[in-house]
Amino acid sequence: MTKEELRRQVVIIGSGPAGLTAAIYTARANLNPLLIDAPADTEKQTTPGGQLMITTDVENYPGFAKGIEGPDLMMQFRQQAERFGTEFLEEWINTVELQERPFTLHTDNKVIKAETLIIASGASAKWLGIPGEAKTPHGFGGNGVSACATCDGPLPAFRNKRLVVVGGGDTAMEEATFLTRYASRVYVVHRRDKLRASKIMQEKAFRNEKIEFIWNASVTEILGTPEHGVTGVRIKNPDDGEHFTLDCEGVFIAIGHKPNTDLFKGQIDMDSVGYLKTNGHSTATNIPGVFACGDVQDSVYRQAVTAAGTGCMSAIDAERFLDHLPVEMPSGEGVTMEGEHITPDHQLIITATGEIIPNEPAPE
Ligand code: NAP
Repeated sequence: MTKEELRRQVVIIGSGPAGLTAAIYTARANLNPLLIDAPADTEKQTTPGGQLMITTDVENYPGFAKGIEGPDLMMQFRQQAERFGTEFLEEWINTVELQERPFTLHTDNKVIKAETLIIASGASAKWLGIPGEAKTPHGFGGNGVSACATCDGPLPAFRNKRLVVVGGGDTAMEEATFLTRYASRVYVVHRRDKLRASKIMQEKAFRNEKIEFIWNASVTEILGTPEHGVTGVRIKNPDDGEHFTLDCEGVFIAIGHKPNTDLFKGQIDMDSVGYLKTNGHSTATNIPGVFACGDVQDSVYRQAVTAAGTGCMSAIDAERFLDHLPVEMPSGEGVTMEGEHITPDHQLIITATGEIIPNEPAPE
């Protein structure tokens, strides 16, 4: 069976705040974007709409003075993108070919050709995979268990309560320190006797009187009831196998995130964890015409509003590129659609045929 072929100026992968903001901007620029997202799948942990679809109250997205539920916010984003003509496709992308433009994406049913590609496939919080951790009603996820202190820490359910943070990296230190604003006590449970976090973050956490460290300890189960939510965690010392129960009312899992970039391995430059590398001044990846925005390229801020902000940047970068204007690459060079390179000091233009010419305005 021959597959249906689609051809678009702009193809966006991912329907979280970054992808949908890129869609709103490119649709308003009359570029008829096609936004592709994976279908919902509990086993593969994919949720169209991204991490906000599993968040309850969003209190820090500007413009919603009274807060908004995560799924409602994403519905607003989606309807806004639809209003300007974004086309949506819910299919798994099996492979991508980025060696030449137009880029080619293969799904089970379609071959999609894209002049520019905006990758907004997000990142997924890592989970421990222990009993009690799953989303309600299967566990206490959303009812005392969270993977985002900035999102959920200020909620009434966690105020003046004993909270557990699992992990020993920068995220765990940052989340534990942040949570002391609200909690009565924060226990950091770490599986070793040394932290992975940077010295400055460790010291800040050590100095905080509300934080207590529980070393050489693995959380093996989250305990609670549907009515009261979390009531404690079971902890095991991996050395002697001893178990004990620590009473608490909330658990924050902070063991890192995994960017959703397996599809692009070997084709786009990534850091050691798999985050796509982009230029600080643009969202360009090392491949001219491929842009990345949101959590797939951001291991530091990871907020809905920063994702939306970089989604807007990606859209403007793609528009510039399609207008034959140079877009700044991670190397600092400007590159145009025709393959011209402008040196980082803006002094020279290297044409697609290798000719070097000064980058000076044409004489009057
Ligand atoms: P990370 O550095 O990979 O640390 C993950 C932590 O979780 C480690 O302590 C690890 O233990 C623990 N862990 C992993 N899997 C576990 C499991 N199954 N059970 C128990 N513990 C487990 O991740 P991150 O803290 O999210 O940081 C990711 C990157 O973002 C880092 O480069 C970090 O510097 C950066 N970051 C920066 C900031 C900032 O500068 N403000 C804030 C947050 C993150 P082990 O130590 O035993 O491996």
